[in-house]
Amino acid sequence: MVESINEPNLRVNDLVINNTWDVHKMNHLIGENLTREVVNSVGSLQQAQDTMIWLPDKNGLFSSKSAWDIIRMKFQKLDWSCWIWNKWIPKKVAICIWKATFNCLPVDVQIRKCGIPLVSCCNCCHGGHEEDLEHVINKGDFVMEVWKRVYAELGIHFIALQGWKERAQGLFNRASWHSQIGILYSMIPIVVIWQLWRRRYRARMEGTSESFSLVVGNIMYWLNHIASNVNKVKRLSCVDRALLSRFGVKIVELKKCSA
Ligand SMILES: [Zn+2]
Repeated sequence: MVESINEPNLRVNDLVINNTWDVHKMNHLIGENLTREVVNSVGSLQQAQDTMIWLPDKNGLFSSKSAWDIIRMKFQKLDWSCWIWNKWIPKKVAICIWKATFNCLPVDVQIRKCGIPLVSCCNCCHGGHEEDLEHVINKGDFVMEVWKRVYAELGIHFIALQGWKERAQGLFNRASWHSQIGILYSMIPIVVIWQLWRRRYRARMEGTSESFSLVVGNIMYWLNHIASNVNKVKRLSCVDRALLSRFGVKIVELKKCSA
């Protein structure tokens, strides 16, 4: 690094002779190593006109998208994002799950944290319970029964003492884009949480109380619907086949390789 040189009025142009760097003069001013670095990296001197290049984009062209990408605040990438933001999940559902992930769903405890005092009472237990997110989508009496039933229908071992994120992570760990059953696993936490939140919303805003069988039926319908819309798979085991059949999903066969 060069802190200063003895010629304060020197311009870059003074170091160019006949469109080439004046290497001798540069060596004298900044040393051989830096001269070599400047000559190799600052760009070759050419006859062509200068062109503006936007480095943040691979093609060198400026776009508002790339500019926004630079100035926006970025959080650490979430492993789940690909399971939430994809063609299978309607946007309103994805937004609901995204809000849950970042603790932004307006449950009573969250509203209190914003400085609004209220007496909290959930809509899912007979005795009433303080309403926080964990209760609404994982631990409430009604809610836990829903999870248990869905796990039972899909032949998954149910662990009661799990937080909702741990439960979702366990299912996302089984997920895969390569098989129908893998896609189905990825949809379970999303569809269940969406339906549970929807039930809570309707209870709170419309005074309706969806029954256990209706909520479970809706969940099974959506899981079946999404799995049935898969049209291409790379894996299909016997276990997958049995589970899909039991679940009533139309099985997508592996494409046979042509000889
Ligand atoms: Zn409750």
